[in-house]
Amino acid sequence: MRRLLLAVGLAAASLPAQENAGRSTPTRPGGAPPVAAPTAPKAAPKAVAPAGPAKPAPRAAAAPKSGEGKIPAAGAYVGAREISRVLKAASTWDAGKKQLTLTVANRRFVLEAETREAEFDGVRVFLGAPAEIRQGELAISKIDYLRLLTPAVRPGQGAGKPPGLKTIVIDPGHGGRDTGKVNARLRVLEKEMTLDTARRLKVLLEAKGYRVVLTRDDDRYVELTDRPAVADRVDADLFLSLHFNAVEADVERVTGVEVYTMTPQHQLSANRQPDDQVAVHNPGNFNDHWNAVLGFAVHRDLLAALKVPDRGLKRSRFAVLRLARCPAVLIEAGFLSNDAEAARVATQGYRQQIAVAIAAGVRSYGAALAQARANR
Ligand SMILES: [Zn+2]
Repeated sequence: MRRLLLAVGLAAASLPAQENAGRSTPTRPGGAPPVAAPTAPKAAPKAVAPAGPAKPAPRAAAAPKSGEGKIPAAGAYVGAREISRVLKAASTWDAGKKQLTLTVANRRFVLEAETREAEFDGVRVFLGAPAEIRQGELAISKIDYLRLLTPAVRPGQGAGKPPGLKTIVIDPGHGGRDTGKVNARLRVLEKEMTLDTARRLKVLLEAKGYRVVLTRDDDRYVELTDRPAVADRVDADLFLSLHFNAVEADVERVTGVEVYTMTPQHQLSANRQPDDQVAVHNPGNFNDHWNAVLGFAVHRDLLAALKVPDRGLKRSRFAVLRLARCPAVLIEAGFLSNDAEAARVATQGYRQQIAVAIAAGVRSYGAALAQARANR
């Protein structure tokens, strides 16, 4: 577990304060949000006030493609014995490191007390609330157990009918007057990198037989709320939003990949948005389970292919994830603020590698859906 411990040390030193809230404050983040009545899974998704002017979504009243059970109370925790029994996982407890390791078919899932950071099959994953010792055993928030760990360990367990996978919407971040992140020294613009990567990914996915639609195929500005609306219009099964990242400080050191899915209701995001409303059930929350299956698959395959630092699988209420009515993921494929990484991203060869890695992630997600279907 040397790698995880090193990563934890790094995280404590460098990640935004929000991610480490559980480590340094006495109040558990998951316990803070007020508990509101959850929206019934079969009901029409609750309308949310969009950030800007928006056309009404064409499928606003349509039922979501896959149902989810009721969200548990934010303060509810579930212990190691129950987790390993239900997930049929072998478990070992390291009292010194306060780490619980669950093993399923040679894949290891490591949970550590007093931190939100976990390791799933070799990659970093951020829980919505820190793991704790309760009644003498490690316990995690029931929301993390049902909406993150279970989908990763046993795709489809307790989640209803798996969604299809035929039409894929790729969303190249930014465009037009919105350049996104910029490396001025090297003249690398995020909006150009995302569009080119999206076009490459489209070719790869179409070759695999998927129907692929881009939210923009030229240098134009598209409102955030109009991007998931494209997915609605074409009845998409999957929404992939492509971005590149930047930091203000520590540009020399911060590189690598991070992958985001929608934050479950009543949980804190890794990077809290200014308008983060933890009590609201958003359209994106109808797919909490499949979002986690998708995010885990894409994050793992990106890291395996690119061999860059692992910034973690995280959750955030980004507008495109909040409003997506199909499983959705937002990929930050590299840091343009780091000159070496920006120079690599600026090459066609590296963008092709990124596209190939995301396509592999889509294939892994498809395999997880097939496994879930077979287990029903
Ligand atoms: Zn971006």
